[in-house]
Amino acid sequence: MPGFSRRDLLKLAALFPPAVALSKVISTQNVLTNTQSTTLPNVIIVLFDAMTARNLSVYGYHRKTTPNFERFAEQATVYHSHNSAGNFTIPGTSSLLTGLYPWTHRALNDGGLVERDLVGRNIFKLIGKEYKRIAFSQNIWADFILSQFREDIDLTLPPSTFGITDHIIGDKFKDMSSAYRALDDFIFKSSTPGSIIFNPIEKVLYSRIVAQNLSDDYPKGLPQNINYPILYRLDDLFNGLSSFVNRLSPPFFTYFHLFSPHAPAKPSKEFNEKFNDNWHPINKPVHRLSDHYSNSILRDGRRLYDEYVATVDKEFGNFIDALDKSGMRKNTYIILTSDHGEMFERGEKNHHTPLLYDPVIHIPLIISAPGQQNRTDIFSPTNSVDVLPTLLNLVGQEIPAWCEGQLLPGFSGKIDAERSTFTVEAKLNPAFAPIKKGTIAMRKGKYKMIYYTGYEKEDAFELFDMENDLEEMTNLYSSQSQVAASMRDELLERLHKANMKQTK
Ligand SMILES: [Zn+2]
Repeated sequence: MPGFSRRDLLKLAALFPPAVALSKVISTQNVLTNTQSTTLPNVIIVLFDAMTARNLSVYGYHRKTTPNFERFAEQATVYHSHNSAGNFTIPGTSSLLTGLYPWTHRALNDGGLVERDLVGRNIFKLIGKEYKRIAFSQNIWADFILSQFREDIDLTLPPSTFGITDHIIGDKFKDMSSAYRALDDFIFKSSTPGSIIFNPIEKVLYSRIVAQNLSDDYPKGLPQNINYPILYRLDDLFNGLSSFVNRLSPPFFTYFHLFSPHAPAKPSKEFNEKFNDNWHPINKPVHRLSDHYSNSILRDGRRLYDEYVATVDKEFGNFIDALDKSGMRKNTYIILTSDHGEMFERGEKNHHTPLLYDPVIHIPLIISAPGQQNRTDIFSPTNSVDVLPTLLNLVGQEIPAWCEGQLLPGFSGKIDAERSTFTVEAKLNPAFAPIKKGTIAMRKGKYKMIYYTGYEKEDAFELFDMENDLEEMTNLYSSQSQVAASMRDELLERLHKANMKQTK
């Protein structure tokens, strides 16, 4: 790649008003070092909702679900032990966008929000006004969180963008068109969370549309969101996203929160029934706190999910190709991740669960840097709170002292075997009170501890060796008593500290 020439400096200086040009050049020096780029790099976060790393072939899954992620990974840094800080959309998304753990930002509940005093601690604000900051969410819960950051977001795309409402109505429901469009405009383009109260009306209208528009391309129905009743085709969605991005002028920061592969799974014709094989994953004992789904329900759910993931993977491949073709990737970081995982084992078919086993919290993180040619693999544990400080460092911004994440290894971060990371499930607690009922997972080196409190008469702990027992089959809590005691003390101490802040 070319070095930094005088011509590049002039080009860079031209991007900023003269009064700030020099200081800006100085403050972006590490950007230049990292990327060999002549301008601030663009950043695209593509978040796939409820995507567990455990069902992706790029992470070694038995079924070939993600050949395009594998292709993308060949020119990227791949994180193999990346956990979300939360186990459903609200805490998981809030931690990614604030660099804070759920017990700090307090978006703990269904419908929860980031504590008002902490709202300014968000990636949109911190990345700076030099960036055009854009958000798009197909998930209403993520939209609630994003609406808290609206002062720091330059453009919010309505959730129906790239959907097919207009197309369907135009062709099939001409008589209903104007009334429906008015309703749609009111609900989806007003950007007011309160519009969710119209959901039942929307749902009735959509169910009529869906019933008469089962597409041949999607034998199980069109992809849809369960909260916003938005129908979309994944090819339209990704074509729309790539042409949108290709029209943006640099530097931009986009956060795309995509609903797929969250349930309901709607694989395309190409992948429908593709994994109707005889493969059976390892059988795990039913957990006492699970919903006790039968093995056959779990097996069917897993297969359908895998087929939906493969559908998503194909369209993501087309998205990447479109950005390659336009040359956009030469100055763009692309971050592929999720807000939490999904599980089909131990009697549980969900992520909205007190269980924090690996499928629920182990999410993909694959980062492709501008012009990156080779693959790098990082195996040490990382957490979604690490994305914010890493991004800030990449674009030359200071990392605030309050941030609970660290720089990711591979992007100036060090591998620290003593570091502990956390996932906090506490949806049954009041948001602003000590956590008395919940589950906390703590990862330290190769060990993972899970702590259950408030569900049963006695608290419970589990300890797993994630290097040698990734399936979490052998609880070492009693046999590895030294490790267990030291991790337990640290976990309880951290929880105590977080709880103390809520007693003032
Ligand atoms: Zn989610």
